[in-house]
Amino acid sequence: GGNKHHAERAAPGSERLHESATEVFPGGVSHNIRYHEPHPLYVESASGATIRDVDGNEYVDYWMNHQTSVLGHAYPTVVEAVQEQAADGLHYGTPNETGLAFARKILEAFPAAERLRFTSSGTEATMYAVRLARATTGKDHILKAEGGWHGGSSDLSSAVHSPFDRRTTAGLPPGVEEHVHAFPINDEAAVEDLFEQYDVGGVIVEPMLLAGGGVECEADFLTFLREETRRRDAQLIFDEVVTGFRVSPGSYQARVGIEPDLTTFGKVAGGGLPIGGLAGRADLFERAKPNANVPPEQAILAGGGTFTMNPMTATAGLATLEVLESEPVYEHTESWGERVRSRLAEIFEERGVDARVLGTSSLFCPHFEPEAPLTDVKAVETATNRSALVEFHDRLIDRGHYHLPGHMGSVSYQTTEAQLEDLLESSEEVIQELQAEG
Ligand code: PLP
Repeated sequence: GGNKHHAERAAPGSERLHESATEVFPGGVSHNIRYHEPHPLYVESASGATIRDVDGNEYVDYWMNHQTSVLGHAYPTVVEAVQEQAADGLHYGTPNETGLAFARKILEAFPAAERLRFTSSGTEATMYAVRLARATTGKDHILKAEGGWHGGSSDLSSAVHSPFDRRTTAGLPPGVEEHVHAFPINDEAAVEDLFEQYDVGGVIVEPMLLAGGGVECEADFLTFLREETRRRDAQLIFDEVVTGFRVSPGSYQARVGIEPDLTTFGKVAGGGLPIGGLAGRADLFERAKPNANVPPEQAILAGGGTFTMNPMTATAGLATLEVLESEPVYEHTESWGERVRSRLAEIFEERGVDARVLGTSSLFCPHFEPEAPLTDVKAVETATNRSALVEFHDRLIDRGHYHLPGHMGSVSYQTTEAQLEDLLESSEEVIQELQAEG
């Protein structure tokens, strides 16, 4: 229907807080994607698979903290470990054994990586990874995927939204985009052309593009990138900030059996606390050592920051990775994710709705009215009825299933089958309702 649907649940508390927030934050939010119509929900507490807003409404959460909380909220062993650590100090700003153990666990997951540096966010991780690629190859040009979101650093802010040849943000110094070039994923010829045109030091790519709506790189394409970067002496960077520890113990690279030169991680690894990092072969980090035996202009600043390797994140991360090792988290989230994807697709088919569902393992995202096969982000961005997705999510929120409208959802280890069946039933109702409204 043409009428913009607005949340019907009473949320006067959230509305009031949002009004107040507009005097504090630009547009009332500290992160633009958290804004949605008519106003964002103010969440007061979260546990298991549910969040509770300030008005006492409960929702089953599929946004899961920017797709960070694969175990769900307030997982008991994680909470306990964090509480215990808090009593011993939140951060020392010095090396600590917990942080070391955490780093060892992360390296175990990435067999190609021998060293790592922590950061406090995925943005910093990818920023340093690109720098490392340039410094270690002596080549300035970087290739990234169209629609790839690697955080907000100046270098990687280009080609996030279509049209991809346009600057994504104002405020970049002249020339930034001259050293970063975007290719459509799964397009080998486009990548080859860029290699021919530019002296490329690194290729950064998400194996599955989260902000790109869940479009995935084909395994053959990733293999091609691996071979091409090797042949051309460029570093291959897998941005596994989203897929890391989410899709399998060894992340996406284990799934496809490809060893990148550098891996960036974040989100799930931190157990819900701020995290980022980059991992790779020892030789790549040689000039990043504090005692590197190189002239100062050859030293590389890669990783670090005030809050890196803080014992709170390390503790939450370690406790989370322990659960991922000892419990059937991947089996459950994968099969539940598959159930949601396939049942949603079935509902769309049965009801004659032109939609496709993307996503992998625990992640799912429907796209309405795709006009082309969804094999690259351009197809998702230009051929998808985005407002239909927002509308769909709005109405699911009304029924108690929280999505960040327009964004990917995920199931967590604590999401129950009853909650999922309820989501699927509600999805069918929403589709019927929308069709009835014409
Ligand atoms: N890389 C990818 C693939 C992401 O999806 C994100 C954030 O969503 C980032 C990097 C940036 O991470 P952060 O938000 O922790 O800075």
